[in-house]
Amino acid sequence: MMTPILLNEYRRVVFFTGAGMSAESGVPTYRGRGGIWAEYDWEEYACQDAFDTDPRKVLDFHEQRRAKVLACQPHAGHRHLATLQAAHPGVGIVTQNTDGMHQRAGAKSVVELHGSLWRIRCPRHGTMEDLASPAYARRDCPHCGTPLRPDITWFEDPVNAAVFEQARNLITQAELFVAVGTSAIVYPAAGLIPLAKQVGAQMVEVNVDDTEMSRLFLERVREPAGTALPELFLA
Ligand code: NAD
Repeated sequence: MMTPILLNEYRRVVFFTGAGMSAESGVPTYRGRGGIWAEYDWEEYACQDAFDTDPRKVLDFHEQRRAKVLACQPHAGHRHLATLQAAHPGVGIVTQNTDGMHQRAGAKSVVELHGSLWRIRCPRHGTMEDLASPAYARRDCPHCGTPLRPDITWFEDPVNAAVFEQARNLITQAELFVAVGTSAIVYPAAGLIPLAKQVGAQMVEVNVDDTEMSRLFLERVREPAGTALPELFLA
């Protein structure tokens, strides 16, 4: 295993997390065995067309996802990143996950590239938090009555340009870049990894397997996030 890294030796650090970050919490993955797209057709549940055709069906599906995520707990790796962020003002977390686990573990600032299960939005009146329970507090906009949709980047949606720019800004300044539990195949998010390399960040990958981008990392840690993060990154 790699020698532990002292974050105080870096001014700016970015942890870039994917679905593997929440795997040890038991959050269902999207692909592969047990993945929800093996069971459900995304064209019926996770794209704007599906929502326009049958908003109720799509919202029911997302309420099931929220229930599953609420039944899971953040693990030691999530808690450790929150602690590092509290101890060091230069630590950023950029996630592809929509599960809100980093925030539940206490992280104060998380760039959510693909949105959140815990927000809902009106095309005219913007985004609202909806944290209460698996059931959405409301399904129609309080201002105009338009059906509210989950504030998630679905299949065929563009990513939120302002959020992506925020991630790019953090990564452009990073001296240390740590990718955790991402297969690095979903674009444009995966393109942030070569960006970190290009700006000269020290590159560490924490993943149980090799990925498409492993060759860009000097350090490759083949351990689960929940054990590797507390052992390898010290405040
Ligand atoms: P992915 O499923 O494509 O890849 C997960 C990666 O994590 C794999 O490389 C796997 O080897 C690795 N991994 C599995 N368990 C691990 C562990 N315990 N520790 C470290 N690594 C582990 O995930 P992705 O790259 O994030 O892309 C999937 C897309 O689906 C993303 O866009 C994401 O938004 C979305 N998604 C989100 C969630 C969530 O919110 N928790 C869950 C599933 C998918």
